[in-house]
Amino acid sequence: MKSQDIRSKFLKFFEDKQHAIVPSAPMVLKDDPTLMFVNSGMAPFKEYFLGNAEPKSKRIADTQKCLRVSGKHNDLEEVGYDTYHHTLFEMLGNWSFGDYFKKEAIAWAWELLTEVYKIDKNILYVTVFEGDKGDDLPMDQEAYDFWKEHISEDRILMGNKKDNFWEMGDQGPCGPCSEIHVDIRSDEEKSKVSGKDLVNMDHPQVVEIWNLVFMQYNRKANGSLESLPSKHIDTGMGFERLCMVLQGVKSNYDTDVFTPIIREIETIAGKDYGKNEKVDVAIRVISDHVRAVAFSIADGQLPSNTGAGYVIRRILRRAIRYSFTFLDQKDPFIYRLVDVLSKKMGEAFPELKKEKHLIENVIKEEEASFLRTLDQGLVLLDGIVSNTKGDTVSGERAFELYDTYGFPIDLTALILSEKGLKLDEQGFQEQLEKQKNRSRAASEMSTEDWTVLIDDAEQEFIGYDNLEANVKITRYRKVTSKKDGDMYQLVFNLTPFYAEGGGQVGDKGYLEDINGDVVYVLDTKKENNVIIHFVKNLPEHLSETHKAVVDANQRYRTECNHTATHLLHQALRDILGTHVEQKGSAVHAKHLRFDFSHFSKVTSEELQEVENFVNARIAGKLPLKEQRNVPMEQAISEGAMALFGEKYGDTVRTVRFGQSIELCGGTHVKNTGDIWYFKIVSESAVAAGIRRIEAITNDAMKDYFEEGYQVLSEIKSLLNNAKEPVKAIENLQEENSSLKKQIEQLLKDKAKNIKGELKNEITNINGIQFLTKQVDLDAAGIKDLCFELGSQYDNLFLLFGAENDGKALLTCYISKELVAEKGLNAGQIVRELGKYIQGGGGGQPFFATAGGKNPSGIKEALGAVKNYIA
Ligand code: ATP
Ligand code: MG
Repeated sequence: MKSQDIRSKFLKFFEDKQHAIVPSAPMVLKDDPTLMFVNSGMAPFKEYFLGNAEPKSKRIADTQKCLRVSGKHNDLEEVGYDTYHHTLFEMLGNWSFGDYFKKEAIAWAWELLTEVYKIDKNILYVTVFEGDKGDDLPMDQEAYDFWKEHISEDRILMGNKKDNFWEMGDQGPCGPCSEIHVDIRSDEEKSKVSGKDLVNMDHPQVVEIWNLVFMQYNRKANGSLESLPSKHIDTGMGFERLCMVLQGVKSNYDTDVFTPIIREIETIAGKDYGKNEKVDVAIRVISDHVRAVAFSIADGQLPSNTGAGYVIRRILRRAIRYSFTFLDQKDPFIYRLVDVLSKKMGEAFPELKKEKHLIENVIKEEEASFLRTLDQGLVLLDGIVSNTKGDTVSGERAFELYDTYGFPIDLTALILSEKGLKLDEQGFQEQLEKQKNRSRAASEMSTEDWTVLIDDAEQEFIGYDNLEANVKITRYRKVTSKKDGDMYQLVFNLTPFYAEGGGQVGDKGYLEDINGDVVYVLDTKKENNVIIHFVKNLPEHLSETHKAVVDANQRYRTECNHTATHLLHQALRDILGTHVEQKGSAVHAKHLRFDFSHFSKVTSEELQEVENFVNARIAGKLPLKEQRNVPMEQAISEGAMALFGEKYGDTVRTVRFGQSIELCGGTHVKNTGDIWYFKIVSESAVAAGIRRIEAITNDAMKDYFEEGYQVLSEIKSLLNNAKEPVKAIENLQEENSSLKKQIEQLLKDKAKNIKGELKNEITNINGIQFLTKQVDLDAAGIKDLCFELGSQYDNLFLLFGAENDGKALLTCYISKELVAEKGLNAGQIVRELGKYIQGGGGGQPFFATAGGKNPSGIKEALGAVKNYIA
């Protein structure tokens, strides 16, 4: 069965069981501070499990892109070495939100595997939670009894808390689970060791394919468990592993999910898969990692230096390292795999097709730049090696190479071992540990349980229409971090505060109680669909009604920038072309930033046009036309554009100003005229194929003009109030360059004169044409002088001293015959003379220089040499 059919059979099966089929959510999470990437099928549904939102259906099924490279689930180091863990993989899942429970979940999983996919029952094992004393949890007898109806009891195994109790994080919904394992070994192997003994033992052909989680508890901050009022089902089946079983192969990489990519790598690199273990690992690493990186870029997460972007960069660099070391690829090539990938998976994930060029460009540039880093690193490593006494390179030096220059440590170790040297691994680990502790301490955070003041309260956002409201605090909790100290997070029954999202910053403002006491709201953020207000201190009278007031000034300036961002987007598509797509935005009170796909620098004429376009629409005083709760399809048919990597509900909000129409949850001015004026302040590159425009509006424009005017006034006054300052500056520049030329000529003349004088001072000592002298020339002038004299005299020995900017310089020149015959060495000589001028230097045997901070020692140095030669 082809992988495409395997996927659609799964979805069809659950559709027939009344599940709503939804597309995969984006892989990069936006409003969950505990998680960077979706790492299991349930992550996008967290808000439903937490009871913060209602799902559109109580039964859902999908295939979800998951990435396991950081945090609690991190499989990165396994990937490539084994045949069944990936960084990015698809998790097929079916969900019940307070609907069906263990009985149906177990029966359907069994039906699908054995009747639809027709997997032989005799290669399957299931596990059941055995209970846990510490948590005072009983064995999952219920699940055991349901399994018994389908599978013989000797295939039901007991599992411990590590494998059979699933937790979302340190806190939150959790419960026992049943895993389904498959034994795909040959009969001969089975007869030697029973599959029973290999379940959960990391055997590559006795692997877990599906996990059915029965969510029935909630883990509180103090570690205790409470029963959940309504129980949920969360299942996850590894798609690639399922394909391995159904396609009768022994490795995920031998399924049609991977073989086209592997064939392409073989062709490009000229290596065969399956001949040499090291090459095989590299090929698996690359074929896995290119998927993770491509999907991430398609979702709008580009490689970068921080956060999620840094994780992606590290994945790509791991692939480059393996291709560099084991496939001998010294030029970018991973980007060339994107074509096959998008052909193969573009059907199920259209973003891969749509964003193909961007993905290729970004990967190619990342490859080129990391390959340069590797080149530089090799040179630096050579330097370290030649300065190493003994046979061990210090961990500190290796760490520096790793930390400052980004040179991978495994490559350092490999190169050293090829040179017969050792790496002080322990020293390296110590440095790494120290650094980790530093950053851990900086990011440590503790979160208390919510204290609920009003149970079951819904939350309503009223901030599109109001900046003030009387609100009740429904719950609060304390969060402590190194960075911010103690903070409190408050949730209201209704709120005018806009939570950070869609690029727009969160509102600030204050809460006022009936006595007029005020607590400032420092920021507003969304977490799993709940709007949270950050305050430094808890209000004194928590349960009373408070007046919640948004900082109207900050909100207004932010709105000017947000509306301007929409107009800018429209302008760019109109002027540069419809290939322009939004790739990120940051809307603040002071300025706006807009990232978009475009393949060359935007010229200053184009920027001017864009500015004019936006300002024309501001002058046109276009009113805001807003629609809330429009069905997604309708919004799209009206011309709004959905962005990849953004999570949309079934109904959306559209924001329209004239011909600009966008899907947007942000806040806007009522009329474009409010913006006053729009000015682009910079245009730059963010990554290959991605440009960034920064701009300002409204109040910020006034500051901008005033500052500009101030600078101009100062310039004018420096120019003695010249009528035409530009002309005056041009005159100064001209004058300056002609003066420079004159000086150059004068210096040349001077050198000529000095040369003439010096010729008379050369004396013959023991057959050596000898001269020492303090001269008034710079380093370059002295060097020229040495080589000119050198071309005219044989057996020449020169030592010049000079003082420049309060520093001493010694320059020594020795004819090659003298070096060869008399064993004189300029490098050695200046090194020794360095002590007179409190400095040092070196160079070659025939030419060397030394610098020092004591010019008064020059005379002594010159004298010392005379004695030496004599
Ligand atoms: P394993 O013990 O094999 O790492 P797991 O216990 O981490 O699996 P779950 O968290 O229960 O797995 O995830 C559900 C399913 O997702 C697994 O049964 C497996 O089929 C699949 N899966 C998990 N991790 C990976 C991975 N890194 N690559 C591919 N598939 C995976
Ligand atoms: Mg795992």
